[in-house]
Amino acid sequence: MTVTFWGVRGSIPTPLTPKQLRSRIAAVVQRVTPSDIASQEARERFLTRLPPYLFGSVGGNTTCVEIRTDDGQIIIIDAGSGIRELGVDLANRGDTSTAFPILITHFHWDHLQGLPFFRHAYIPGNSITFYSPVRGYAENVRHQMQPPFFPVDMSAMNAALEFVELQGATLRLAGVDVSWRKMNHPGGSYAYRFAQGGKSFIFATDAEINEADFEKSEANTRFFADTDLLILDAQYTLGEAIEKYDWGHTSPSMAVDFAGVWKAKRLALFHHEPLYEDKKIYRLLRTAHWYKHHLETAQPEVVLAQEGMVLGV
Ligand SMILES: [Zn+2]
Ligand SMILES: [Zn+2]
Repeated sequence: MTVTFWGVRGSIPTPLTPKQLRSRIAAVVQRVTPSDIASQEARERFLTRLPPYLFGSVGGNTTCVEIRTDDGQIIIIDAGSGIRELGVDLANRGDTSTAFPILITHFHWDHLQGLPFFRHAYIPGNSITFYSPVRGYAENVRHQMQPPFFPVDMSAMNAALEFVELQGATLRLAGVDVSWRKMNHPGGSYAYRFAQGGKSFIFATDAEINEADFEKSEANTRFFADTDLLILDAQYTLGEAIEKYDWGHTSPSMAVDFAGVWKAKRLALFHHEPLYEDKKIYRLLRTAHWYKHHLETAQPEVVLAQEGMVLGV
């Protein structure tokens, strides 16, 4: 499987402001020496050596993740503003998919607000199938797209829409075994585990990891143990996570602890705080690396989920 991040920000879309852009350009110009621009090769080398928060961005769109199964089928998680970018990219790369399963973690706006702008929902012959374990959730999805909040309701979508309420413990979807688990978050949020061909990964955003998640119960072990990739909410610094107890989010060091206990091979920090500039988010990654080093453990490898990033599982 491969995982592509189309939206990694928490809570609200966070575009770069003109002021931020100007200060980045100024910081780059300050670093240039005559030898850095002496040739095309020198210019490229200069750019690649810049810190990632100057030559790039973690991205400002809210949650949307594209999964490609081993045989190339698509599964989507959440419809935050990143799903608009996904739709544009699918069209640009000439993708011929017509069936779009969308697993919903929960119904907060930052996980649904891109849906009215997902162009593939308006194409006749396409099918969009939503999945959530929440009973009666179709109304939640329909409510967020209707006048006066949006010019049209979901009947304007020409694709065939279906709402599946997940029952039991697992679902076979596009050749992938999917399971789910309710996480600690205001109003509840569901984490999903995907397994195919002996590989697995977990997507758990809007989740405040607590003691119960560390318990080595049979159910926890079945869901959390031994994944190749754990994508986990890491919105706040540890200080803020303590201050914002019960707000439903985790800190990078807690995420490292959790990934270590459940032996995840790789941890991707996700749902970045909109008030943090990119530089601070990269600092959180360094904190996570430092903390892992302090624990003297080789696993997990810790990365920052960034818009456009593709991870193989
Ligand atoms: Zn969220
Ligand atoms: Zn939420």
